[in-house]
Amino acid sequence: MAIEHTFSILKPDATRRNLTGAINALIEKAGLRIVAQKRVKMTREQAETFYAVHKARPFFGELVESMIAGPVVVQVLEGENAIKTYRDVLGATDPSKAESGTIRKEHALSVGENSAHGSDAVDTAKIEIGQWFAGNEIVG
Ligand code: UDP
Ligand code: MG
Repeated sequence: MAIEHTFSILKPDATRRNLTGAINALIEKAGLRIVAQKRVKMTREQAETFYAVHKARPFFGELVESMIAGPVVVQVLEGENAIKTYRDVLGATDPSKAESGTIRKEHALSVGENSAHGSDAVDTAKIEIGQWFAGNEIVG
């Protein structure tokens, strides 16, 4: 299996409830290494760009509002098969359908406020990491 990097966001509903450490513990328990991390407040433009793929969806406006409602923690995670591993740790987008022990089952409030984001493929991971981190900020 290949060592990959994936991009993660701990969303405002998570930072608001002081869950950064609890979620990071689930990430590390899954064998993923947090090789870059910073807490930022996204601008509306940054959130719209980040989720541009969902622009035409009915939930886009609400999604952008939720991402700028408070600080987020952006991260780069490293590990074997990191992209799929992290998607598994996140659980289903809708927390009511997520398996127990996953971030979303344990912590999410709703489909919209589902606590964390993870890249879905190698190409999107690369793009998303590049939007938030310079190469010298990623220390494996
Ligand atoms: N989302 C939503 N309503 C929906 C589907 C998605 O509010 O019906 C939000 C949710 O916060 C989700 C994000 O939009 O995490 C991006 O959607 P995607 O389908 O890419 O889910 P993810 O990759 O985050 O599991
Ligand atoms: Mg997605």
